[in-house]
Amino acid sequence: MKRCLIAVLITFCVVSVFADIEIRVRKNATPATLQEIQMDGVAYVGVSQLGTVLKCIPRQDREDQRLYLHFNGESFIFLEGSSYYNFKLNSFNMHFPLKRSGAEYYIPSIFIKENLPLHFPGNIICKGNRMELDKPFNRNVQVIVLDPGHGGKDPGAVGKVIKAQEKDVNLSVALKLKQLLEKEMGITVLMTRSDDRFVSLGERTRFANDNKADLFISIHTNASKDSKAKGTETYYLSTAVTSDARAVEALENQVVELYEGGVSAKAKYDDLGFILSDLSQTEHLESSNDLAGNIQMNLIAGSGRYDRGVKQANFYVLRGAFMPAVLVELGFISNAEEEKLLINQEYQQRLARTIFEGIKRFKYRYDRIRNT
Ligand SMILES: [Zn+2]
Repeated sequence: MKRCLIAVLITFCVVSVFADIEIRVRKNATPATLQEIQMDGVAYVGVSQLGTVLKCIPRQDREDQRLYLHFNGESFIFLEGSSYYNFKLNSFNMHFPLKRSGAEYYIPSIFIKENLPLHFPGNIICKGNRMELDKPFNRNVQVIVLDPGHGGKDPGAVGKVIKAQEKDVNLSVALKLKQLLEKEMGITVLMTRSDDRFVSLGERTRFANDNKADLFISIHTNASKDSKAKGTETYYLSTAVTSDARAVEALENQVVELYEGGVSAKAKYDDLGFILSDLSQTEHLESSNDLAGNIQMNLIAGSGRYDRGVKQANFYVLRGAFMPAVLVELGFISNAEEEKLLINQEYQQRLARTIFEGIKRFKYRYDRIRNT
């Protein structure tokens, strides 16, 4: 009898501790259920189930044993076997480690019941095993347009020694950056071109506007008659203030005259550009400057190249973009040393990683401003 009572008590305890979590999205009559399982005496929830119920995107990286969870425009990074996770560049503790069994990752229930409501105060309320989610707030940076400069009949600048073509370097770095943004931040990345094709400058910005992108990032490599010219610089739209900036501006704008219909096409850009840039980029100048600063700072720290700074110039491709927009010059393809580096896959990956870190830092600040 006594043994029976203990058994009943134990069953009661197990059931009460491991009752499934009921999640209700406000105004939605039918709650969804997250089934808890017990692992080493602790309640866990399978990550794929969590993804379906919370409408978040889990991405796994088996190689570095990380789990990325993208929820409500924010990212959580977990490490297999660790109770610490990363959120908005800070470390937090969920007291029990992330576990893996077979192909599935398991996250301690306490993360859902206690940590998530702390990260989204007011939007997630949890009482016991019942959770209520407010409507997702989606004013964060979620869509980025990456614009690999040049392409197709327009090779961009061409190296002097290996004859590397700018269009190939730009595309390769942009594709690597796309992968990082998608996997580690859950960002939707759209490309103005994903292969070797010609896209006019006007089409590139229109594409970003039509897709309501939050950021526009154009990727280029630089060139100069002076074969010693070297280094990395990041631009945002404005009237060019130095002769160096004017030279780069002329270089990047000449595609219009060379490949888009000559002087008459340039005149059209000049007329239209004046009206559009007045309306659109002015509003975003401060953010564009901030984004350029974050990218440039990380690029220099990560690549160790010469810092040419953040600059302003009047690039046609940035005009008319209704969002913060920058143009990155990765290095000088006309400099023998940098040309060699720019075609190196590992170096390209490093460049992509540093631009990614710059965007990440910018996003956290910008998201806060946009949500207040
Ligand atoms: Zn270019």
